[in-house]
Amino acid sequence: MELNILTLCYIIASVTFIVGLKMLSNPAKARNGNLVAAAGMALAIFATIFLYEDGGEKLGNYAWIFGGIIIGSVIGTLAAKKVKMTAMPEMVSLFNGMGGACAALISAAEFNHLYQHYKGPMDIPYSSVMPVGEYITIIAGAIIGSVSFAGSVIAWGKLNGRIKDFAFKGQHLLNIFILLLVLAAAVFAYQSQFKNIMLPFLLLGFFAFLYGVMFVMPIGGADMPVVISLLNSFTGVAAATGGFLYNNKAMLTGGILVGAAGTLLTILMCKAMNRSLTNVLIGSFGGSKAGPAGQKQQGAVKEITLSDAAVVMAYANKVMIVPGYGLAVAQAQHACHELEKLLESKGVNVRYAIHPVAGRMPGHMNVLLAESDVPYEKLLEMEQANEEFATTDVVLILGANDVVNPAAKTDPASPIYGMPILDVELAKNVVVNKRSMKPGYAGIENDLFFRPKTSMLFGDAKKVLQDLVSEIKSM
Ligand code: NDP
Repeated sequence: MELNILTLCYIIASVTFIVGLKMLSNPAKARNGNLVAAAGMALAIFATIFLYEDGGEKLGNYAWIFGGIIIGSVIGTLAAKKVKMTAMPEMVSLFNGMGGACAALISAAEFNHLYQHYKGPMDIPYSSVMPVGEYITIIAGAIIGSVSFAGSVIAWGKLNGRIKDFAFKGQHLLNIFILLLVLAAAVFAYQSQFKNIMLPFLLLGFFAFLYGVMFVMPIGGADMPVVISLLNSFTGVAAATGGFLYNNKAMLTGGILVGAAGTLLTILMCKAMNRSLTNVLIGSFGGSKAGPAGQKQQGAVKEITLSDAAVVMAYANKVMIVPGYGLAVAQAQHACHELEKLLESKGVNVRYAIHPVAGRMPGHMNVLLAESDVPYEKLLEMEQANEEFATTDVVLILGANDVVNPAAKTDPASPIYGMPILDVELAKNVVVNKRSMKPGYAGIENDLFFRPKTSMLFGDAKKVLQDLVSEIKSM
């Protein structure tokens, strides 16, 4: 009877994950989607704690379980409440790493559990009693979880600037070699006698951890989004292996959904960045060294005054706003929406050009603009926007840099070469707002700022937008 209720709880939880995920695809419903899936997860967790039985025995260990739940909930709630919007990607990366670590620890615990279960004479090989399917499930969880944990921690450090890119010649060969060591340790552990099995298993964990570090370390030059979504999918797959091990349907569904969604996102990101998935996996793309054109001094830039920028936009037929990471830093989304409404009231057609990797997390700009109620139909995806630039009078770039850098098209030595960009130069005028001439995430200079059609409007995006609004109102 209890088992049936438990299964029912798992089915309800699985349905909430699917419904929640579906709701996440619409910015207006995303928040509720998150709550629906979280409620399902809470149901699955408490149903497992109170209803699960093994051979007629309940889980027990309640003090440990609730101790862990309370400590984790307090840390998670405080971190989520305190985090600045611009630091969200780092936090997501770190939490993703925790998911990977959990999956790896589950595999390690289960490895020990099954070791005790099957243990016979110490000199017989492990493979003679351990079913290969069960072994592969445990090992897959341990490997993928460790890679995801190590990679996510490095990604967290890179996003917040604590860890710098580190690359050397032949790194991808070393990465392939480390991967082979991981697989060799897995085979060796399976073939070992009981008395010798722990060392290869520990080595397997170590090499998988090392691979996680080494494959994220060299990735820079704006390619981090691909790696982050890939690590996300790894954690999902690692959690799904836990679902197989415990025959837990909710864990399995949740893991598969995260794994599948992460994989699809990775493929989309690879497409957006014009990169191949194989290159991502062996960590041999998007190095941090800028090419010659990336770092050369380009001469002087042309500045535009606030009142001139206001006039150019107020008398334009069509204005395209290009939001970037700087808009999120300045928290200028509300001021931006105000400017858009003001221009529209003057008969200007205003649209937003959204680059798939603008900001610091997939969909960052969509979320940011949805926060200030910018109508969704005003947001154009990169391909649509690129068709519109030729008929655009003014492009207003707000804290974007890499996603409009022409080096991606013209400089084969540039770390962002090959990444599709927003073709803002096709417009009649380009106004760039940023605070200084400092580079963006990829750390390279942007030739666009020195081109004849471009004018720089220096300052914090929020202040500049508020001043532009006052200026246009007083015209
Ligand atoms: P960039 O990081 O290239 O540039 C942001 C610009 O904003 C900087 O040049 C900065 O210049 C400016 N800026 C910062 N603060 C402010 C402010 N308060 N007011 C005005 N301007 C400001 O951003 P993009 O959005 O163009 O590109 C995103 C980059 O991040 C890409 O390289 C992408 O690959 C990478 N990335 C994306 C992820 C994703 O999933 N979307 C994840 C990880 C990395 P200044 O300091 O002079 O003001």
